[in-house]
Amino acid sequence: MGRILRGLAGEGHLRVVAAETGDVVEEARRRHGLSPTATAALGRAMTGALLLAQLLLKTPKERLTLRLEGTGPLGGLLAEADAQGNVRGYVQNPQAEVPLRPDGKLNVGEVLGPGFLRADRSLPSGEVYSGTVPLVSGEIAEDLAHYLWQSEQIPSAVLLGVRVRGEGEVEVAGGVAVQVMPGAPEEVLKRLEANLAGLAGLTPLLKERDLEGALEVLLAGLGFERTDLRALGYPQNEIPARFRCRCSREKALEALVFFTPEEREEMIVKDGGAEVVCHWCGEVYRFSPEEIRTLVAEVRCPDCGALWLYPKADGTSFRIEGDACRCGRRVELPFQGQAQA
Ligand SMILES: [Zn+2]
Ligand SMILES: [Zn+2]
Repeated sequence: MGRILRGLAGEGHLRVVAAETGDVVEEARRRHGLSPTATAALGRAMTGALLLAQLLLKTPKERLTLRLEGTGPLGGLLAEADAQGNVRGYVQNPQAEVPLRPDGKLNVGEVLGPGFLRADRSLPSGEVYSGTVPLVSGEIAEDLAHYLWQSEQIPSAVLLGVRVRGEGEVEVAGGVAVQVMPGAPEEVLKRLEANLAGLAGLTPLLKERDLEGALEVLLAGLGFERTDLRALGYPQNEIPARFRCRCSREKALEALVFFTPEEREEMIVKDGGAEVVCHWCGEVYRFSPEEIRTLVAEVRCPDCGALWLYPKADGTSFRIEGDACRCGRRVELPFQGQAQA
């Protein structure tokens, strides 16, 4: 289990969110069979999504999704988090690997390559607010700070770190975001900048001290005051962070409606059933012929469950309008050319 702390520093002029995510990133690595550099990339993005969810989300049912798309071998990455510390994510090519940087660090910028970062804030109503910025370095922390400034007008510093050992298992991972509030005095900013400049990276700090210790160093002279989260229903005074997917057996079965009834019958005859793998978490769902035959030919969004297509009794069908779902996903309908309702 990971954890998230919140607080204020610089006499209330700095808003601080910090997360320790070693267990969360290790679970992502195991679920997806990630290479070391893919672990670092996804781990930083998932940690970043948890931090941004704290900074940007306003209600418990909102979600924040980060999409990083580059021309490097990783081929793209998605991470989604809510403000309750739930996060999930995946990369397109989990085994993608590149040589280490000259300083011996995992080369996340190289594995991702030049591209863009998009952040989507999804509201329970189905509304989605998106912002896109080009990747600055592909090292993710800098890219998120750039995004917060460009799209949200939030001046901030973002630190993210994932360190792996031996076979690639995660030794330590975490992140800190410091948001500068409007009207912050010059001396607060100077002190923060000096502290950041003197830092040799977040992972050595997290490894030698813990998250609280790392914050003491990062915010030295700025008087960090931890927000009491007990009043918000977190008895440990921290928000637990965990890898949690929103997939289910029911949703996985629904994914099979993307195949025609004939194709589904073929799965039953040839394979004796069907297997659906969740791309977000790697979970494998197996279905028996009886379960597959319960499906009717309606199509729903695999992400948000919105109805995309269903056959009506009079022979026509209802089809979703436009080519984007309310959750932002591109609509893919298997039966083209049917009558519009
Ligand atoms: Zn899943
Ligand atoms: Zn949808």
